[in-house]
Amino acid sequence: MSHVRLRFAPSPTGYLHVGGARTALFNWLLARKQKGTFILRIEDTDVVRSTQESVDAILQGMEWLGLDWDEGPFYQSDRFTVYKEFVQKLLDSGKAYKCYCSAEELEAKREAALKEGRKPKYDGTCRNLSAGAADDRPYVVRFRAPQEGVTAFDDLIKGRISFNNDELDDLIIQRSDGTPTYNFVVVIDDATMGITTVIRGDDHVNNTPRQILLYEALGYSVPAFAHVPMILGADKTRLSKRHGATSVMAYRDMGFLPEALVNYLVRLGWSHGDEEIFSKEDLIEKFNIEQVGRSAGVFNPDKLLWLNAHYIKTGDAVRLSELLKPFMAEKGIDAGTGPDLVQVVKTLQERARTLVEMAEGAVFYYQRDFAYEEKAVDKFLTADTPSLYRLLIEKLSSLASFDHDGIESIFKGICEEKGLKLGQVAQPARIALCGGTAAPGIYEVMAVLGKEETCLRLERAAAFVEKKG
Ligand code: GLU
Repeated sequence: MSHVRLRFAPSPTGYLHVGGARTALFNWLLARKQKGTFILRIEDTDVVRSTQESVDAILQGMEWLGLDWDEGPFYQSDRFTVYKEFVQKLLDSGKAYKCYCSAEELEAKREAALKEGRKPKYDGTCRNLSAGAADDRPYVVRFRAPQEGVTAFDDLIKGRISFNNDELDDLIIQRSDGTPTYNFVVVIDDATMGITTVIRGDDHVNNTPRQILLYEALGYSVPAFAHVPMILGADKTRLSKRHGATSVMAYRDMGFLPEALVNYLVRLGWSHGDEEIFSKEDLIEKFNIEQVGRSAGVFNPDKLLWLNAHYIKTGDAVRLSELLKPFMAEKGIDAGTGPDLVQVVKTLQERARTLVEMAEGAVFYYQRDFAYEEKAVDKFLTADTPSLYRLLIEKLSSLASFDHDGIESIFKGICEEKGLKLGQVAQPARIALCGGTAAPGIYEVMAVLGKEETCLRLERAAAFVEKKG
């Protein structure tokens, strides 16, 4: 297999959008699958709308998703001299020409065409000016596009797409201020960077025939193209902020794991049997761009949440604890000051769907002076509860190995001795230890908090019930 070269070419005019991330992911996967090269190119020719902040946000999003690149980032703004050389090349070979038509003239021609029911298209006034006619008026450079024939390509996702050349304008490749235009620089970059397959959003389909004609004029081989359908919101309109967060980093801040987002995005438009869970290694093995569906995917936040819950449940607790720290800090909790966060995480993995939920669930471990949930208090705490708490304290204090099994045996012993059901001991204990009854397993909680803290909390709750009367 010849060496494949792919690229992701975002315009830095905002954060990394989930749609862009999916395009990046497809490129990355194909490069990794075929042991090719993945290039990152920042398309910042639009100097007014491009910002360093956006560049940083895009790089941060790529890094967070684990989409590492082999070459770049290349910046189009560094390559203006390259583009100039190619414009000159096309001028010298007669494949491009200077056009002196003013904006007003072009506008008048446009209006006339529209009035007569013709497609507004450059009429070629300057196409055949003799070289001697050049003067010092401002000019743009236009590509001399073929006016007959058909330009077609076999899109790896959409199938055969063809355009009649007579529909295509003589594209402006250099503006009157000397800056090159978008469709031109994309071709120069993809050609000179040796890109073999262009995977991009299908909002670029209409650019492709113009770009193909430029490759041909420059004598470069035309890459393969795969235009990825866009992502829609639940109402079938293009995914936007109205549907919720669209920025990759917003998902990190909402407590999502990158592997969940990667898994979610790849399934949006691609499937492999009825499999839902894919590690990156699985994807590298199984992903195939030709299997990406032709229709747009609908963004489903519930499914993303489900995947995230899966990755939290099955994730490595040490890693999760590191990822959890900033979320704990946001709650004002220094996780270095209480029970071991890794052990805490292990008790929460089963239920937390996001790191935000996990942090909420972890707070009680680090704050002893919480308020007890009123409903739980009314339902489970009675005048007899303090003596139950004190019995627990007495038995737990003398427990040699304060672990899950040891604690369980104490609970079971008390149930037997007092003729109680497990819930009648466990629920009051949960309230004492965690503040309410929606909490992880009580034996685990006690084991994580340790003997001393457990007994302190039981005593505090006993005093609370006595005071309440
Ligand atoms: N810079 C373009 C964009 O962000 C991508 C162009 C391309 O992939 O060819 O939409």
